[in-house]
Amino acid sequence: MADIRTESVMVIGLGRFGSALALELTSRGTEVLGVDTNRKLVQNLSGRLPHVVVADSTDIEALRQLGIAEFRRAVVAIGTDIQASILTASLLSELEVPDIWAKAINRQHGRILSRVGAHHVVLPEHDMGERVAHLLSGRMLDYI
Ligand code: ATP
Repeated sequence: MADIRTESVMVIGLGRFGSALALELTSRGTEVLGVDTNRKLVQNLSGRLPHVVVADSTDIEALRQLGIAEFRRAVVAIGTDIQASILTASLLSELEVPDIWAKAINRQHGRILSRVGAHHVVLPEHDMGERVAHLLSGRMLDYI
């Protein structure tokens, strides 16, 4: 496993969620390869993300050319295009990426992502709603 870029993360889909994730990881010193089909988005991010490329993650050859075999961790941060999200997660699984994270837009999407091989599924809006509820109830306790 010596060649595997254990600390590097491939972030696929650089919308609000994926770009925030990629920028935060970068600021914490993690090497990130950001991938998106949207050329303009990639150009805009290139000043802040050292490694960002235009590629279609539903194309297995494109993933191979990006060196996916060397990554231990990848995040599928595509949401609205459910077909691209599921296909990407299944290709990452087929390519035996050891740690696959995926963003789901609802529970059904999340279940399918798990079935096709995602190891961790996050539902940002649902998870953040729960977190805010915890924060609010914690604050309410302060006033009791
Ligand atoms: P967010 O809420 O994070 O902004 P979203 O849930 O609206 O995102 P999308 O807009 O579907 O999700 O996808 C996020 C990004 O993923 C977009 O920038 C889009 O260009 C990119 N994307 C979609 N399909 C692919 C693909 N096949 N390969 C690479 N990137 C893709």
